[in-house]
Amino acid sequence: MIVHKNNLSPPRRRGPGTRNRPGSALALERTGERSQELDSRLRGNDNLVVDREESQRGVFEILSCVPDPEIPCVSVVDLGIVREVRENTLFITPTYSGCPATIAIAQDIRKALDEAGLTHMKIETMLSPPWTTDWISDEGREKLRAYGIAPPPKGAARHSLREEAAQCPRCGSLHTEEISRFGSTPCKSLNRCLDCSEPFDRFKCH
Ligand SMILES: [Zn+2]
Repeated sequence: MIVHKNNLSPPRRRGPGTRNRPGSALALERTGERSQELDSRLRGNDNLVVDREESQRGVFEILSCVPDPEIPCVSVVDLGIVREVRENTLFITPTYSGCPATIAIAQDIRKALDEAGLTHMKIETMLSPPWTTDWISDEGREKLRAYGIAPPPKGAARHSLREEAAQCPRCGSLHTEEISRFGSTPCKSLNRCLDCSEPFDRFKCH
């Protein structure tokens, strides 16, 4: 019996490569199971910058499914409302200080975070710097246009382009006029295309 035991091969040593296979973090992320294991691993690596970027990306991914209550074709991430994640706090900046949608947005974000298991994450409103239409992502601008709302041109919040004519989301013409300063919501003005006669909302620049 003793002889037999001695014939057994020694217990296999776990090599250093078994736990940190290259690409395993990415694979975890792809399966959507990233947060806990990946976060703790990154924390163990003392790599707080990566940790923060990773967790921020995860939160942004979750919130990219939260539609804006007034313009459901775009998410709160597309609009640039979701600013950043610091520690366990998510910072958001409302699009428009008087916007009645602000409370609804915070509630929707809370619900999405809770559903994703991030019940510990706090939400704080950041009013400075104020939200600007320049924060709407390119993807968000395309979604607005497809939805029939003229997005503000990029950089419009920085003076000179402010009074430029809106571009018709239907035919692309710049031959348009503003009919009313207020469209379907206070954040938008009502415009009309003088070429194709299409009335449309325009996101006000601010
Ligand atoms: Zn038109």
